[in-house]
Amino acid sequence: MSENKLNKVVVYGLGAMGRPMARNLKDNELLIGVKNRTEGKAIAISNELDLPEFEDDEELFSQADCVLTCVAADDDLKQVVHGFIDHLQPGAVVIDCSTVSPNTARTLSDDLASQGISFIDAPVSGGVEGAKKGSLSIMVGADREQYKRASDVFAAIGSQITHMGRVGQGQATKAVNQVMVAGVAQAVCSALAMAENCNLDMKKTIEVLSAGAAGNWFLENRGNTMVNDEFNVGFKLSLLHKDLKICQSAVQESGATLPLINDSIEAYAQLMAMGHGDEDISALIRLKRKLFEKQEDKADE
Ligand code: NAP
Repeated sequence: MSENKLNKVVVYGLGAMGRPMARNLKDNELLIGVKNRTEGKAIAISNELDLPEFEDDEELFSQADCVLTCVAADDDLKQVVHGFIDHLQPGAVVIDCSTVSPNTARTLSDDLASQGISFIDAPVSGGVEGAKKGSLSIMVGADREQYKRASDVFAAIGSQITHMGRVGQGQATKAVNQVMVAGVAQAVCSALAMAENCNLDMKKTIEVLSAGAAGNWFLENRGNTMVNDEFNVGFKLSLLHKDLKICQSAVQESGATLPLINDSIEAYAQLMAMGHGDEDISALIRLKRKLFEKQEDKADE
């Protein structure tokens, strides 16, 4: 079946994640073109990677056997897919690496199926660092045959690739992942704000805690940056806020409530209102520090 493998990929969405994915696909000789809403970004990557020129979108998409999308949110993805659907050849596959709701994945899958095109939801975890290294963790929802056809594409961008089940199950797994990410951020940002308040040596604190039972990726990779007030790295908090809204809907559909989700949505909404929406999720420490300021104010009274 190797002749059936996907090897003519167009990447749609050249944001923080899409750009490195496009570079890795090119390194693996799988990329034929790129597309982005803001055209300048597509021209820049196209020049950098020495990609062939296409007359128009119709020519670009009709030559692809795969479009890998990585755009911001549900409505953006729907708009993007409906914009190129008519240009694709039957048998082509859309692999979506954005984080959207499982319902959006299933709806798009149905829309595309009516034109003989397959859909795979393949949300990723591992951040911009993982995208650059080609070491993303990929949660795949797909028909088994399409999953196999996409194996070279996945191998070019990720190192942990797991078939979670039918379309939608990748996004369901990603929602679970985001609840965990939000919980870890809550724990680490609260604890490091407390450590600052105890006047601990923050470098030593992060080093010793990282090696013990509380050690985790977020502490190791974002601990030192957040205590130095560097928030221009990694994963924009407005994107986590968007993801948590997806998680909230999924939990509500089952009649439950997870306070962790609601508290995190409220905190990130507050940070967005303060103008910090483009900062990394570790900027949550700004709010945790305020909790200690309030205690100090009370002590002063
Ligand atoms: P980003 O840097 O903000 O880039 C967003 C991309 O989406 C840009 O190419 C943007 O185009 C495009 N876009 C947004 N709205 C659009 C619309 N209506 N029509 C067409 N294109 C549109 O975001 P990112 O960090 O690459 O994230 C992309 C997706 O991956 C998101 O779903 C995010 O949740 C997920 N993700 C991100 C990370 C991370 O660490 N950053 C990790 C895992 C998953 P313009 O250039 O024109 O604005």
